[in-house]
Amino acid sequence: KGRIFRDTLPLLAHAGIVPRDDPQTSRKLILDTNQDDVKLVIIRAADVPTFVEYGAADLGVTGKDVLLEHGGSGLYEPLDLNIARCRMMVAGRPGLTPRHRLRVATKYLDITRGYYAAKGQQVELIKLYGSMELAPLVGLADCIVDLVETGNTLKANGLEPLEHIMDISSRLVVNKASMKMKHARIKSFINRMAEAVARNTGDQR
Ligand code: AMP
Repeated sequence: KGRIFRDTLPLLAHAGIVPRDDPQTSRKLILDTNQDDVKLVIIRAADVPTFVEYGAADLGVTGKDVLLEHGGSGLYEPLDLNIARCRMMVAGRPGLTPRHRLRVATKYLDITRGYYAAKGQQVELIKLYGSMELAPLVGLADCIVDLVETGNTLKANGLEPLEHIMDISSRLVVNKASMKMKHARIKSFINRMAEAVARNTGDQR
């Protein structure tokens, strides 16, 4: 859905898959393509691992952030598509003196827990579902862990990026049983997608 879907379309086109309906105007959740036995399922990034793990879809595209939070062991992740790139960052108000035990608000509990555990720093985590930027402004937390692309959202709310946790991009994921049962076809699809990614990456240089 959304940006990841839009950025995936040119890669799919290179792999010979083009939706029949215009995805911009269609409200359908399942799109037919130029290949009779290939359909596109339009779902939220956060739901993609579930659909693919259960075999409701053979393949999926979602962010590395989503995969890390999901756990991801039930899926293959053969290809970095290098799209929807951004950074997972700690952000906060400039110059704020933190509490003795840092209080961190985030949607990304596992990533955040892992990051501070690796630093050996004890923190208190507060789970939020959106608008993380609000938390430091109203004193709910000292800082947040969120995705940053341009940094405009942070800036607009008087926050600044403090620590870089990891780079994030969207990945191709594959159902484990499908990889075995449809191996040749999926392998050749992955190869075509990899070619398209290499071409895109070349364009960016
Ligand atoms: P920006 O203002 O460009 O730094 O974008 C930050 C906002 O967009 C935050 O609310 C992020 O959660 C969201 N965001 C940025 N990049 C991504 C991405 N690749 N996937 C999902 N959300 C993103």
